[in-house]
Amino acid sequence: MSRIALVTGGSRGIGAAISKALQAAGYTVAANYAGNDDAARAFTEETGIKTFKWSVADYDSCVQGVAQVEAELGPIDVLVNNAGITRDAPFHKMTPQQWKEVIDTNLSGVFNMTHPVWPGMRERKYGRIINISSINGQKGQFGQVNYSAAKAGDLGFTKALAQEGARANITVNAICPGYIATEMVMAVPEKVRESIIAQIPVGRLGEPDEIARAVVFLASDEAGFITGSTISANGGQFFA
Ligand code: NDP
Repeated sequence: MSRIALVTGGSRGIGAAISKALQAAGYTVAANYAGNDDAARAFTEETGIKTFKWSVADYDSCVQGVAQVEAELGPIDVLVNNAGITRDAPFHKMTPQQWKEVIDTNLSGVFNMTHPVWPGMRERKYGRIINISSINGQKGQFGQVNYSAAKAGDLGFTKALAQEGARANITVNAICPGYIATEMVMAVPEKVRESIIAQIPVGRLGEPDEIARAVVFLASDEAGFITGSTISANGGQFFA
């Protein structure tokens, strides 16, 4: 029987690439998303992967969502916490709302999703939690105090929970992508994008597949000795 993987924000961007790569590696995949029904429908038509709509920022919705996925597909073996948003502003202009939305989704969302899958993984003595953090959580980024704080928080979460999961054969790891060619990055003005590319030693943006392949590796049985780790995938832009 194939293992079950749940990917949050799994119907677009990096998450869609992760969902497809896990499916190609033999997993039964569930892709969560927040609100873009058209993208989710098109994704299911293209891949046959089931999508499930709820916000990772809301704990009760996550509990219900996890229960629904497990009822339809079976116990979750692999959780990829990929859903994320940006609400950029220089700190002196950042509103409490911009701070809260990013912390609620990018940091609390990881708690909200991991907490309901954790008891089952402990009972079954197997699990893989993979958190998609960011280079900007490692180095900090102008205009992203909220995002950098949340993504750095995800790394602390990863290192602490890895210690708690180790004896139950649950690994918890993080991937810090650099700049990847998704809607999130393509939405920034072209001039800014060019200046970003100029800072990447390999001279290009990353591809969503390049993150997806790292996820498939961390999800595999072969990666069982790797836990509490951070994989940087950033074209040489920053060495943590
Ligand atoms: P996209 O904006 O392309 O896609 C984001 C996905 O997350 C969408 O599927 C969206 O759902 C979902 N999502 C957003 N908020 C919620 C929520 N509250 N609950 C459930 N799902 C939600 O993002 P990317 O693919 O670019 O980014 C994916 C992850 O990678 C993020 O965590 C991001 O911070 C991180 N990252 C991205 C980098 C990049 O260069 N792109 C660099 C470093 C890290 P819907 O389709 O319904 O809107």
